Amino acid sequence: MAKKLNGTVIVTYRCNARCTMCNRYKAPSRADEEISVETIKKLPPMYFTNITGGEPFIRTDLKDIVRELYKKSDRIVISTNGYFTDRILDLCKEFPQIGIRISIEGLEETNNAIRGLDDGFNRGYETLKKLVEAGMKDVGFGMTVQDKNARDLIPLYLLSNELGMEFATASLHNSFYFVESGNIIKDRPMVAQCFEDLINELLKSNSPKKWFRAYFNHGLINYIYSQKRLLPCDMSFDTFFIDPYGDVMPCNGTKDKEVMGNLNEQSWDELWNGEQAEKVREKVRHCDRNCWMIGSVSPAMHKYISKPIRWVIKHKFLRFFKKKKYSMYENAIVRDYRDGKVTKEQLDALSTCDMTAVANDGLSEASRERLKDKSGEELVAADISEN
Ligand code: SF4
Repeated sequence: MAKKLNGTVIVTYRCNARCTMCNRYKAPSRADEEISVETIKKLPPMYFTNITGGEPFIRTDLKDIVRELYKKSDRIVISTNGYFTDRILDLCKEFPQIGIRISIEGLEETNNAIRGLDDGFNRGYETLKKLVEAGMKDVGFGMTVQDKNARDLIPLYLLSNELGMEFATASLHNSFYFVESGNIIKDRPMVAQCFEDLINELLKSNSPKKWFRAYFNHGLINYIYSQKRLLPCDMSFDTFFIDPYGDVMPCNGTKDKEVMGNLNEQSWDELWNGEQAEKVREKVRHCDRNCWMIGSVSPAMHKYISKPIRWVIKHKFLRFFKKKKYSMYENAIVRDYRDGKVTKEQLDALSTCDMTAVANDGLSEASRERLKDKSGEELVAADISEN
C-alpha cells in the first residue's frame, strides 16, 4: 500500500482578517479558480490533512471538500480565524471528529489590533466556547508570537488550559504565502523570555504532548535568533501543500512559489514522481530559510524523534531531580547575544526579513488582473456579502 502523506490544502486565498504580519488579504484568489472537489478527489491517501486559507470558511462549499477529504485522510484539522461562527458550528455537526484551530493573537486589545477584525477576539473566543459546548473534542487556538503579543503568551496558555484546549504557537515568517518579506522579531531577548516561561509551564504539566510542545517552542527561540533548524526539513518528500490553483508545493515558507506540478492538469502519480517534483526536492535539500512552523516541524519531529525525546528526558530529569528549570541561555546564540559576541544587525542579516524585496503573491494572472480595478479587501467583502 502507498505510504500515507501529510498534506495541507489551501482552499482559498480570500481572507476577511487584516493581520499585520500577513498581506494575503490584499491578494485574494478568484472564487471560480479555487480548488474544486474534482481536484480534491485526485489527492493521495493522507495520515493528516490541514485545511487552511486565507479564511477557509469563506468558501460555502467547504463541507463538500471536507466530505471528500475524509475519504482519504485519517485526521483533518481546519485553521480558521473563527469569525464565521455559524458556518463552523454547522460543519462540526456533520464532522464531530474534525479538529478546529482558531487563531487568537493575544488578549482582546492585542488580538484585535493585530488581526484587524472587528470584535475579533470575542467572536473567536465565543466560537471556541460554543464548539466545546457542542461536545467537540479536538478544539484549540493558535498564536503567532511577535513583539506586540509575546507578553500575552502565558495568559493565553492558561486560558487554553482552563478551557481544556490545545494551544499552538508560531512566530513570524516571510514568504509568498504571507505576501510578506519584512516580518522580523525586534526584541529577541524579550520574546525569548516569554517562550522560556511557556516552555517551563509546558514541562511542568503531566502531558507528554505538552513536553514535546515545549521542544517545539525551544526551536522557536532558536528560530527567532535566525539559527539553523534544530531538525532537518523534509518537505516535499512525504509532505505537500496544494494551493487554490491546484499547484502542489513543498511548503508555504519559500520566498517565491515553488511548483512541483498541477493537480488540475496531472494525475497525482504523474505529478509526484515527475521531473519537476524532483527539481523542487533538490531545492528543498539545500533550502536555507530555516523555518520553524508546525507544518514542517511536526513531520520532522516524528521522523527524527530521538532528538526531541532526548531533549524532553533531559529537561524532565533536571526539573524533577535537580529542581532546575529550562533556561533560554541553554541556546549558545542567546548567550552570545547577551554577551555582545553577536549583534542585532548580524542576526537580522541571517533572517529571511528583506525590507527591500518585493513579496511575490503566488496569484494566477486572472486573480491578479482583478486587482487592477478593486482592492483585495473590496473584492472579498463583496464575495462575503453575496453568500
Ligand atoms: S526550510 Fe523547509 S519549510 Fe522552510 S522554506 Fe525551506 S523547504 Fe520550506
